[in-house]
Amino acid sequence: MVTLRYDVDRDELAALLDDEPRYRVDQVWTGLHEQLAGPAELTSLPKRLRERLATALPEGLTPVTEAIADDGDTVKWLWTLRDGARVETVLMRYPDRSTVCVSSQAGCAMACGFCATGQAGFSRHLTSGEIVEQVVRAARRARDDGHRLGNVVFMGMGEPLANFDATWSAIHRIHDDLGLGARRITVSTVGIVPGIRRLAAADLPVNLAVSLHAADDELRDRLVPINRRYPLSVLASACADHVAVTGRRLSFEWALIDGVNDRPVDATRLATYARDLRAHVNLIPLNPTPGYPTRGTPRAGVRAFRDRLRDLGVNVTVRDTRGRDIDAACGQLAAGSRLADPVRRDREDPRRTR
Ligand code: SAH
Repeated sequence: MVTLRYDVDRDELAALLDDEPRYRVDQVWTGLHEQLAGPAELTSLPKRLRERLATALPEGLTPVTEAIADDGDTVKWLWTLRDGARVETVLMRYPDRSTVCVSSQAGCAMACGFCATGQAGFSRHLTSGEIVEQVVRAARRARDDGHRLGNVVFMGMGEPLANFDATWSAIHRIHDDLGLGARRITVSTVGIVPGIRRLAAADLPVNLAVSLHAADDELRDRLVPINRRYPLSVLASACADHVAVTGRRLSFEWALIDGVNDRPVDATRLATYARDLRAHVNLIPLNPTPGYPTRGTPRAGVRAFRDRLRDLGVNVTVRDTRGRDIDAACGQLAAGSRLADPVRRDREDPRRTR
């Protein structure tokens, strides 16, 4: 089996370079993580070594398409992995920083009906190196465009806490070697309670976001099926532990679905749940996905829901719908599914441009 470029650790790299002068290990490591360069670009290395490394440590991601939206401020890449699995990564540029949204799995097993990734099902876990390489590629692009990658969010395809070890090892690499602070890294979960507990006990205090979407078990069982295993009361106590141990502010994601979770009673329940945990609420107007019949809450309803939460003392923001026209917005990542295929999609929907 080959080792991918960003799956290799320092010891393995040292073993690979055991016939070279010792300083080469540092040189290559720095090249990969600080210069964000592939072996071929490390011109301080002898050519034969560059060639050897390029073969021994291949890249894990091959670009299939790159879609651009929001006047160039949003870029979505579709990659194939070495076994043919496909994932997507989204880079969002903001005035003060850029944020990359990475995938942790090809597909997802959590089966939330309103999410395009959930609709497509699970293919496999990503390796740590496949996650890190998404960050490196995005950081390289940000740098080439004259800005800096400021944040990494695990809000792409997959459930990061269902792939805990690879996610955690990627977080360490992003923190230790790419140099992003723990407060710049956010893990988003449907609410895998044992994973939240592991995260709280781990040695880097990263931010936690929970995709809540409902604050009563009856509705949440339907919207986020894992709730049947980890109901709201259990979830709340794991979240409280995370906040207590890490000191990080918790956030809840809430995709507003017309007539489903945007009623006054939903706001009231959410306010109680969020206030107890001093959580910040991110409202996401539901983005359209092919397999879900219900629509997003109209704009006025989103504002009303937000205002109601505010009046109830909740910290709340409405997330923008970045990348919607390239299916790069929250819940729209569906690499490799029929609708993600650019050729077919253009034919099916001629209004779309890319
Ligand atoms: N599995 C993790 C990571 C994915 S994050 C998690 O669920 O948190 C992707 C975010 O987009 C989640 O908050 C998810 O609930 C939300 N989402 C899914 N489908 C959506 C849609 N159609 N519109 C808006 N947000 C959606």
